[in-house]
Amino acid sequence: MQPVKYGGAVAAIVQAYNARPENEKVAAYWSADAVTPVRKVIKDHYIADQQQLCCYCRHQLETNNNAVWDGEHIIARETKPQFLFEPLNLSVSCKDCNVPKGTKNVLKNKDRKTFPIKSTDYIIVHPHFDEYDDHILWFGPVVAAASSDSDKGSTTIELCDLTRYGKRCGNLKGEVFDQRFRNRIGELLMSRDQGDATEVLAELALQIKKLPEKK
Ligand SMILES: [Zn+2]
Repeated sequence: MQPVKYGGAVAAIVQAYNARPENEKVAAYWSADAVTPVRKVIKDHYIADQQQLCCYCRHQLETNNNAVWDGEHIIARETKPQFLFEPLNLSVSCKDCNVPKGTKNVLKNKDRKTFPIKSTDYIIVHPHFDEYDDHILWFGPVVAAASSDSDKGSTTIELCDLTRYGKRCGNLKGEVFDQRFRNRIGELLMSRDQGDATEVLAELALQIKKLPEKK
């Protein structure tokens, strides 16, 4: 993903904010009228760069309409207003991912003062620093965490409520999407040979058996 670049009048607004003393950097400034042109540059850039895909659920909103998209602060602006215009802290997301994510912590070290620029600094899949497909897999509306060295997939699924698509369409209850299933489906996809896959499938079948029968 390409970080947004600021030019002209927009760059001046960003620079003026960044030059403020730390205690005068406030999250609410994002919504100020003076910031409208900055928000537009940011949203237009990431909507195009992400090809109209939400950075967390990867579902497409087929519109460039700024009002439909949320300008997403990966580290919530309420918790770290000093990163309000940091290009690497910005993306666009759908509202249904952004609302559950809210102001939840996404950092390994939430007390950190400088801007974290490494994938390993984050506990979620980072739109700039991670490859989405390494961590999260979609099977139609069903989501699974890919087997990987980190729990980023599972944490993102939880924080952004990504199981909502599957729940909606299958009219299913929570159990189907519990942690064991997510991990197993991830393992299934990463199986190196038929033996591995058969083993995972057998475990999945066992877990399915434990679920209540369909009413
Ligand atoms: Zn989304």
